[in-house]
Amino acid sequence: MIDLRSDTVTRPTNGMLEAMFSADVGDDVFGEDPTVIQLEQKAASLFGMEAGLFCPSGTMTNQIAIKMHTQPGDEVICHRLSHLYNYEGGGIMVNSGASVRLLEGNRGRFGAGAVIENINIDDVHFPATRLVCVENTCNKGGGCVWNFDRLEEIAAVTRDRGLRFHLDGARLFNALSESDESPLDYGSIFDSISLCLSKGLGAPVGSLLLSSSADIKRARRIRKVLGGGMRQAGYLAAAGVYALEHHVGRLKEDHVRAKRLGLALEAVPQVERLLPIETNIVVAILKASVDQTAFLNRLSERGVRAVPFGPQTIRFVLHLDIGDDELGVVNSVLNSI
Ligand SMILES: *Cc1c(COP(=O)(O)O)cnc(C)c1O
Repeated sequence: MIDLRSDTVTRPTNGMLEAMFSADVGDDVFGEDPTVIQLEQKAASLFGMEAGLFCPSGTMTNQIAIKMHTQPGDEVICHRLSHLYNYEGGGIMVNSGASVRLLEGNRGRFGAGAVIENINIDDVHFPATRLVCVENTCNKGGGCVWNFDRLEEIAAVTRDRGLRFHLDGARLFNALSESDESPLDYGSIFDSISLCLSKGLGAPVGSLLLSSSADIKRARRIRKVLGGGMRQAGYLAAAGVYALEHHVGRLKEDHVRAKRLGLALEAVPQVERLLPIETNIVVAILKASVDQTAFLNRLSERGVRAVPFGPQTIRFVLHLDIGDDELGVVNSVLNSI
């Protein structure tokens, strides 16, 4: 089976497993796991942020960030396609009691003007706008990358208006490898950043939340409340350290292969069109006459897995376990489907 459903399906490499086996560990709830501390500090300093917090999932880092930035009754501005709205089980409401203002915009992105228009005036009738969230790359947008100037403009609005600015950077390293900006540039404009280690970076588990020391202190308390305090988590953190050291540079390979997969998909008669391919995600829209489930089943019977991604829409994701040989097999399956 060649599994292109997600970049979360990767298994740790031998090098990563060796790093995990030889990790130095302690009880992280007591703040005594040296490898967790190393990972948190390494990521924070990479982005020029004061502190980091290692969490079990990207959902948890996003949800902690929202809770740390808001009070019940506040409002969060985000895009209609955002993961933290669509794919986190309604967590904004459940965990933070906050309301959500959804913005439209091209493949998950919006401008500072839309943010300004959607900030509520200070009046008892309205929820208090408190937080703006963006996602880079945007998953539902087909892995598209934000223009950094646009993010800086939104950051300026949030600063002027006393709002907080959070980045769901589950795939931020994919965006960075297609941009001129550095992690430090990103660290300088956001109040908090969430990063996934278990997607393109290939770790089995784990995400990081980066922010100021004061906010991470509060985030640590929220993580405990959510049941996310982990003990000898250094075995997992070691995979994260290894991923940051060995798997960031290779993300571009996934992007090159995604474009090659796109060329093969464009030639498939059942495919109407593709979203533009910018990173490791390939989204195909099927012709109206094609049965989506039957098409995915035909692919799967031939050893290639993709996921449904909305009406007539399917997603393929390139990752660490897909090399040129696997891609060759996928292309020949697509040629004959
Ligand atoms: C995967 C993902 C997350 C977090 O997912 P988990 O499965 O909880 O780690 C958050 N945001 C985006 C954009 C994602 O793709």
